Amino acid sequence: MAVPISQMWTVASYVIKNKLAGNKHYPLVLMLEPLFRCNLACAGCGKVQYPPHVLKKMLTPEECFKAVEECGVPMVSIPGGEPLLHPQIVEIVNGLIARRKYIYLCTNALELKRRIHEFTPSKYLTFSVHLDGLREHHDFSVCREGTYDLATDGIREAVRRGFRVTTNATFFDGTNPNDVRAFFDEVMAMGVEGVVLSPGYSYEKAPDQNRFLGRARVRRLFRAILSNRKKSWKFNMSPLFLEFLMGKRNYNCTPWGSPAYNIFGWQKPCYLLQDGYADSFKELIETTKWEEYGVESGNPKCANCMVSCGYEPSAVNHGFGSLAGFWAMVRGTFSLYKDVGALKLLDEPVDGGHGQLVQIESPVNEETHA
Ligand code: SF4
Ligand code: SF4
Repeated sequence: MAVPISQMWTVASYVIKNKLAGNKHYPLVLMLEPLFRCNLACAGCGKVQYPPHVLKKMLTPEECFKAVEECGVPMVSIPGGEPLLHPQIVEIVNGLIARRKYIYLCTNALELKRRIHEFTPSKYLTFSVHLDGLREHHDFSVCREGTYDLATDGIREAVRRGFRVTTNATFFDGTNPNDVRAFFDEVMAMGVEGVVLSPGYSYEKAPDQNRFLGRARVRRLFRAILSNRKKSWKFNMSPLFLEFLMGKRNYNCTPWGSPAYNIFGWQKPCYLLQDGYADSFKELIETTKWEEYGVESGNPKCANCMVSCGYEPSAVNHGFGSLAGFWAMVRGTFSLYKDVGALKLLDEPVDGGHGQLVQIESPVNEETHA
C-alpha cells in the first residue's frame, strides 16, 4: 500500500463526514496552480501556451492559503507550470503544512536537486515528479534531452533526504506497455513511495494533437500495463481508479472533486477545461452547470476524457462511501490482476511509436535560466 494510513484516514473521515452531512458537491483535492510558467514546453501540455504577460503572473502565498481555506480540502496538488520556479514556493508549502494539508508538489524536477535543501521532510509533503517513462521515452515526451537524468538525480536526492516522493506519468498514443512496466521496476528501485498514472487529456492548445488516446484505446493500454502486476509495484492512487482505467468499472466524472484555482480565479468546470472563472469557491459550485460535463453529458470536450482529476474523486468517493466500495478498494489494493488476455496484449506491435525527438524551447525557460 503506497498511501500512508494517516493520509487515508484523513481522506476517509472527510468523505464520510460530507456524506453524513448530505453534501453533494464537496472537493477532495485542490489543484492549486501558483503560476503557469515552466522551464519545459512539452508537446502534450495545455498550460504553457499563455502569452508572456500571463506567464509572468503568480499567486501570492496569501492567495494560495485563502483558496485552500475557502474550499476546505484535505489534499492540495500543486501543478503548474513548474512550482519550483515560484520564488515563494517554500513559504506556500510551509503554510500548507502548518494547515495540515497533504500536499503533492508536482514538479518536472529539473530544479529539485538544487532547491531540495530549502524544504523540510514532512508526512504532509510529497514531491510528485513528472516522469513519463524510461529515459528515451521521457525525454521524447517532454521534448528535451537530458531531462530524465536531471529528474532522477532530483528523485534520488529527495529520497536520500527522507522526503516522500512519487512519480507521475501521462501516457499518450504510441506508449509501449512493456516499457511502462520496465519503468515501474526502475522507479520503484529508486525508493519512490508509489507511481501515479493518467492518460493525457486532448488539450485544444497542445502543440501536438496526434498524440491523444480515445477511451477504448486507454482501456486497452492500461489493461496491458496494469494486469499481471508485480508485488513490488506501488501506486499512489485509488485502486478503483486504476480499475476504471483498465476498463473493469465505469464512473461518471466528478469535476468538483478536484477544483482548480489559479491567477484567473476558480476555473470552470475543472482543471482541464476553461469555461469561465468564478471569484469564489461558493460561486464555482453554485453557478457551474455541472450537468453539462462528463462523458455522459454528451459534451464533445469530455468525450475522450478519463483523466484522474475528473474520475479519481469518483473512485475515492465510491471507495470510502459504502461498505461494498471499501471492500472493492481493499481487494484492489492487494490484487495482482492475473489476466491471460492482457499478457497477449504485451506481445502486440505498438502503433504510432516515437518519431524523432522534437525539442521545443520555451521562451520563458531561456528567460528563467539566463
Ligand atoms: S513540465 Fe511539461 S507538462 Fe508540466 S507544466 Fe511544464 S511544459 Fe507543461
Ligand atoms: S470529463 Fe474530463 S474534461 Fe470533462 S469535466 Fe470531467 S474532468 Fe473535465
